[in-house]
Amino acid sequence: MRTARIGILLFGLALAIFGATREKPLRVLLVTGGHSYDPAFHEIFTEWKDLDITVAPHPSAFREDMRSRYDLLLLYDLADVEDEAKKANLRNFVDAGRGIVALHHAIADNQNWPWWQEDVIGGLYLLKPRDGKPASTYEHDLDMDIQPVAKHPVTAGIDAFRINDEAYKQMWISPRNLVLLRTNHPQSDGPVAWIGPNRQSRVVYIQLGHGPLAYRNPSYRKLVRQAILWAAGRQ
Ligand SMILES: [Zn+2]
Repeated sequence: MRTARIGILLFGLALAIFGATREKPLRVLLVTGGHSYDPAFHEIFTEWKDLDITVAPHPSAFREDMRSRYDLLLLYDLADVEDEAKKANLRNFVDAGRGIVALHHAIADNQNWPWWQEDVIGGLYLLKPRDGKPASTYEHDLDMDIQPVAKHPVTAGIDAFRINDEAYKQMWISPRNLVLLRTNHPQSDGPVAWIGPNRQSRVVYIQLGHGPLAYRNPSYRKLVRQAILWAAGRQ
């Protein structure tokens, strides 16, 4: 009888410890809108049961204070946030040290918000010529050779790989970034993934990711997953 009680007690204790140490799903706010994309994009995330993803298309994105509800902002949108309340919510999220992963065309977000470009993302795809710089350019369906150039949790276990994707060129790219991946493709800028310069928030930008050939590339998937985990402080 006593042994049985001790057994139950130990079992209960083990359950409590297991429950306490098991991490809660990572709460991701995926922001879309302003640019079309193939729905196969969402397949990237279906096997990652440790992510709890909420999709917020513009214009509903950033309407609420995101700090208590989300651990990470995943941007796959193309929009200028102009509403002051939304800007404040975005700024508060960054200042609170929550992570940001921006993919592909999200580098053209917030064309007229220097803080965003210079202190958060560390780059900008110029939709129009500006300050003597020409507009940025894009080219679809290129086979690009990608080289890791920094040792970092986001690129851990990722060797050089080839991807068929859309390249961007003539972007403004901050010299304060830590570049993670580069390509030598002549129709692309050299850096294709980097850690942004922000001091409060962990920010990762990945230029790759236009369509299904990229979404289904195993190296791309690994890169996106590791970027999410690292930016959210899970790695
Ligand atoms: Zn694209």
